[in-house]
Amino acid sequence: MKRNWEALVLRAFGGRDFRLTVLDARSVGEHCRRLLVADGGLLAACGVHPTMWVRLWFEDGGKGHQRAYTLVDPDPAAGRFGLEFALHDGRAADWARAAAPGDTIDATVQGSAFAWPEPAPGHVYVIGDAASLPAVNSLLDSLAAAVPATVWLEYAHDGERDLPVRRRAHDAVTWVPRGDGGALAETVRAGLGTGPDAYYWIAAEAAATRGLARHVRRELGVDRHRLCALGYWSA
Ligand SMILES: Cc1cc2nc3c(=O)[nH]c(=O)nc-3n(C[C@H](O)[C@H](O)[C@H](O)COP(=O)(O)OP(=O)(O)OC[C@H]3O[C@@H](n4cnc5c(N)ncnc54)[C@H](O)[C@@H]3O)c2cc1C
Repeated sequence: MKRNWEALVLRAFGGRDFRLTVLDARSVGEHCRRLLVADGGLLAACGVHPTMWVRLWFEDGGKGHQRAYTLVDPDPAAGRFGLEFALHDGRAADWARAAAPGDTIDATVQGSAFAWPEPAPGHVYVIGDAASLPAVNSLLDSLAAAVPATVWLEYAHDGERDLPVRRRAHDAVTWVPRGDGGALAETVRAGLGTGPDAYYWIAAEAAATRGLARHVRRELGVDRHRLCALGYWSA
């Protein structure tokens, strides 16, 4: 596959390239595809952190088409991790629909970083959807046991509400229908709390993410070190 200028820029910024091999592929309901991949040395070389993601290279008319996907349950000892694809239109989603054991895909590690702030948060507010659910789950897994999370997840299809959320006993999880996009913002704004030890993690559709991040910064007056916001896809 011909890589484009993006690949050169990523390499210039320290991007590291690996080839992943599909070991297992299965559908989870109608709108999600879960893969297990051999990591081609990625985990040993790059380590692991919550919400870690890689840039996968999909073929599009002979050229490279780069899209971000989150590592699920990375296992450095075994050199394996999972990938969970929300299914919609698109090259990445199409590749996942057809993926079968033995298929390979190139991955670049560049740009992924996350660490909980110091001092540690006392309450975490999380906003996501099916695309960011793998990251949401890795956040919940990594959160100190005593710290509660309030989670809003936007869904486009009823079946998405059956996707596993790794909530602990004291976490609150609310699914919000996508509709025209306004419901998520409205529900979240009505339910967001504040406090000096609150932390906010937002990863939904790009415009919705921008709007909520602006609300958290400007209207709730939250310091930027207490907010992590990244649009995961664009409508
Ligand atoms: C850091 C990061 C980590 C991510 N991790 C994951 C992950 O683990 N699993 C995952 O499924 N996605 C994840 N995403 C989102 C994924 O990269 C995007 O959804 C991407 O656009 C899919 O590429 P595509 O080639 O299939 O579709 P594109 O060519 O990008 O888009 C094709 C069409 O599909 C629509 N579309 C794209 N994504 C979605 C979506 N999620 N829901 C509804 N419609 C959509 C677009 O609006 C467009 O109309 C992540 C994104 C980021 C930034």
